Parts: sequence; structure tokens; C-alpha cells
Amino acid sequence: MQLVWFRQDLRLVDHPALSAAVRQARQQNQTVEAVFIISRAQWRRHQMAQVRERFLLARLNELGAVLAELGIRLHRLEVDWFDEVPAALAALVQARGARALHAISAIEVDERRRDAAVSRQLSVPCHFVPGCCVLPPGSVLTGKGEAFKVFTPFSRAWLKALAAQGSTVLPPPGPVAAPLGWQPMSLPRPTALEARVLADWPVVEGAAEARLTQFLERAVLDYESQRDLPAREGTARLSAYLAAGILSPRQCLAALQQRLGRLPFSRGEPGFAWLNELIWREFYRHLLVLEPRLSMDQPFQLHTRALAWRQDEAAFAAWCQGRTGYPIVDAAMRCLNQTGWMHNRLRMIVASFLTKDLHLSWRQGEDYFMSRLVDGDLAANNGGWQWAAGTGADAAPYFRVFNPTTQGQRFDPKGDFIRRWLPELAAVPDAYLHTPHDWLRIKGLRDYPAPMVDHALARQQAIAMFQQLE
Ligand SMILES: Cc1cc2nc3c(=O)[nH]c(=O)nc-3n(C[C@H](O)[C@H](O)[C@H](O)COP(=O)(O)OP(=O)(O)OC[C@H]3O[C@@H](n4cnc5c(N)ncnc54)[C@H](O)[C@@H]3O)c2cc1C
Repeated sequence: MQLVWFRQDLRLVDHPALSAAVRQARQQNQTVEAVFIISRAQWRRHQMAQVRERFLLARLNELGAVLAELGIRLHRLEVDWFDEVPAALAALVQARGARALHAISAIEVDERRRDAAVSRQLSVPCHFVPGCCVLPPGSVLTGKGEAFKVFTPFSRAWLKALAAQGSTVLPPPGPVAAPLGWQPMSLPRPTALEARVLADWPVVEGAAEARLTQFLERAVLDYESQRDLPAREGTARLSAYLAAGILSPRQCLAALQQRLGRLPFSRGEPGFAWLNELIWREFYRHLLVLEPRLSMDQPFQLHTRALAWRQDEAAFAAWCQGRTGYPIVDAAMRCLNQTGWMHNRLRMIVASFLTKDLHLSWRQGEDYFMSRLVDGDLAANNGGWQWAAGTGADAAPYFRVFNPTTQGQRFDPKGDFIRRWLPELAAVPDAYLHTPHDWLRIKGLRDYPAPMVDHALARQQAIAMFQQLE
């Protein structure tokens, strides 16, 4: 029997480990079985959101059903911590007579340590193969063989490598044995938030592909002009599927190519702006592999370790709850708390606010996002936070500080997004919506807090904080 270990890759299509296991099983007249390991204590230590756990387990139930139709039994194992995984897998390998283990390589440090321990401790060959990126993480390097430290040269090198190597999508495997019965895991009744997340992110087979197709048909050509407007559905809303590996980035590329007739290879070509976001995803993943300290709470720019971030639990709580007095920040945080997802422009705005206006550490924000997001992903989340905080892999200088008022005016000009999430501001006229405090005071309305900081002053203090490092 060939054993496939599913992790952050809950799909059948473009799954190189599954394909290899099926190929080997056919050659050697064997069966294929699969396993997924639930490790809740470790997940909590990694701040995995409850909604993300629920999303993964719901998807696992669907995956188990489609695997069973192909004659592949899915085992579920439960341990607390990653260091219990080798023994749990060894017992399964022995009990089921597995001849080899196949999995897609992980990129995070704890996960890679776990996989190395599995390779050492199992008595059968363990095959870890790339599969979470278009190009294998760590394979796109500078002429000197080093990691790219900024995005634009990385994206050029990535596009060149893609043009040379191409990208193909592996088909899903056909049946390897007669269909089996499948007993889905019984899950507790979803909370209201979990139910909302499961409705927003359906996990049935084909749902992610359908959303990709719909986005490409309806919105990809307008992506560049619409992607920064949180009140519109201008982006693909695929991040939870990509983070859980329900969809592969190569599937995205293939669908884009099919839609446009060819892949856009340069800025200005239709569809390039969207492809560029997929390259950001690759950038942060490649970086995580090449710079393992990013998985260990360290800043990319090492000298920024000396930054004196403030400790202020009350300020942090106001940010988390969406009670900062800056409408676009508050609407974004309440949206996150009530849906498990946030638009990219808003992630940048609230991350800039936490670090550059409140002077709280990006690590606090990174953890909070992780504990709430259905698409929580270490590489993208850490990359995004460090980019916003001025500690990351970024060509722009640290004095880029977003003004939360003008960002709101620019990207939510009519306040549609703000009104959706801040009902206490619903009646404020458009002209005052981004700075509603005087209007609210005159009307005697006191539900909405005053701005917790003076942005102009906070900006100067943030810049001074960085200048002290020089
Ligand atoms: C502070 C901060 C934290 C973030 N945390 C996460 C996270 O935990 N998980 C996550 O998937 N994304 C994260 N992002 C990136 C981005 O905000 C989301 O991927 C995006 O909002 C998802 O929406 P979409 O699927 O509609 O994306 P689209 O705009 O349609 O883009 C398509 C895909 O490209 C990838 N992508 C897009 N933008 C980025 C980016 N800046 N960095 C990396 N990948 C990107 C995503 O996989 C996305 O699904 C973060 C960004 C910031 C600024």
C-alpha cells in the first residue's frame, strides 16, 4: 500500500504526492490509502483560527468522500503536538502495511522539523515533493544564489523561470480500487461565525474551481481598477482555498491562461495585475523557506529588532474590537471579527495603523490576524505584516505611513463599506463619514469613539522611532 499524507493540500487535482502514490501503486499492484493528522494543541500554539479549523475539517469530510469513490481510504489521526506525529504515522504504516509515504513539502519551520523527524523515524521511504507553489519554493534565486530581498526583481526572475519551465496541472487520479464506504467525522454544530464562514467558503468538490472560473469570466479584466475597493467584489476571494490547498496556484495560472489565450508576462497586459498577486504569494513562500527566521518571530530586517514597540493592552483591544475612532480601520476590524476575512487594502490599512499609529508590534497584529482569518497563512500573513510595519522585505522606506482618513476617502469614497460594518455611522452624510466626530457631537450621538490618536503626531513618532535605529 502507498500512503498519502494530506496537510495543507486538501485537493485531488494537481497533487503531485497523490499522483506519485497512485502511479507507484499501479506499477506494483498495490492499493492507496491516505491520512490527515489533526493536532489541535499545535494548531492553537500556531494561533490557527477556530473558523479555519472548522473550514479544514469540513473540507476533510468532503475530501474523504471523493477519495472513497476512488477506492482510497482516508484515515484521521489525532495527536496534540507535532512531535507525536512520527509515532502516530509509524503505527499506521505498520498496521496497514504501507510501503512508502508521500506528501507535499511544507515550508514552515515547525512543519519542516516534523517532516524531518518523520523521515528519520519511519521504516519506509518518505517522499516529500514540492507542490504548494508554481515554482518550487527556494528555487528562484539571484545570480549569486541568494534570496531576493525585494519583490520586483524576484517577480522578473520568477516570470523568466516560468517562461522557461512552463507550468502544468496534474489531472486528478482515476479510481485505484472499487468505491469504499465513507464515514464523515461528526463535527459539533457550527457557531454562528463558523456557519457564516462555511456559507462564504463552500467546501464541496468543485466550489473553489467554480469561484475561480467566475472571477476570471467576470472580473479579472477589471481587477486592476477594482481590487482596492472593499465595497466591491473586485478580487477573486480565493485566499482560503489557496491557503488550505483546496486549489493550487498552478490551477489558477492554467485557468488564467485559458481565459486570456496566453499568460500575461508584463505589466500593462490584461490580467497581469492579478498574476502579480499570485507572484506575491510565491515571493513570501520562497522567502520563508530561504529565511527560516521569519517563521520564528524575527524581522526580515534584523536591525529592526531594536525597535521599541509600545505595550498597551487597552490600545490593542480597541484595535481588535474596531473602536479606534477611525472609521475605515474600525469597519475593517469588525468585518474580520464577523466574517473571518478581510480585503487586502484593508489589511494594509489596519496593519499600518497598529504599527505606525499605535506603535504596537507587528507580532501582536500578526497573531491576532492568524487567530481570526479563515485564510490564515504564515508566509502571506508574516510578509504582509512586516511589509506594513517597515521591518520586512520591501523596497519602500520605513516612512511610508498610511493616513487612515485619506485611505478611507480614496478607497471607500461613498462609505458603502463603512456603513455596512459600522451601523452607528449609517446616518452620517458622505462628506463627514471619514471624520464623523464633529457631526456626531452636534447631533448628540455618542456611540462612536473619538480618534484614539492624532495621526499626524503618531506618524512623526513612528518615523522618529525608525530614525533612532540609524
Ligand atoms: C497584513 C496582511 C496580512 C495578510 N495575511 C494573509 C493571510 O494570512 N493569508 C493570505 O492568504 N493572504 C494574506 N494577505 C494577503 C492578501 O491580503 C490576501 O491574500 C487577499 O486579500 C485575498 O483575497 P483574494 O483571494 O480576493 O485575493 P486576490 O486579490 O484575488 O489575489 C489572488 C490570490 O493571490 C494571493 N495574494 C494576493 N495578495 C497577496 C499578498 N499581498 N501576499 C500574498 N499573497 C497574496 C492570495 O492567495 C489570493 O487569494 C495579507 C496581507 C496583508 C497586508
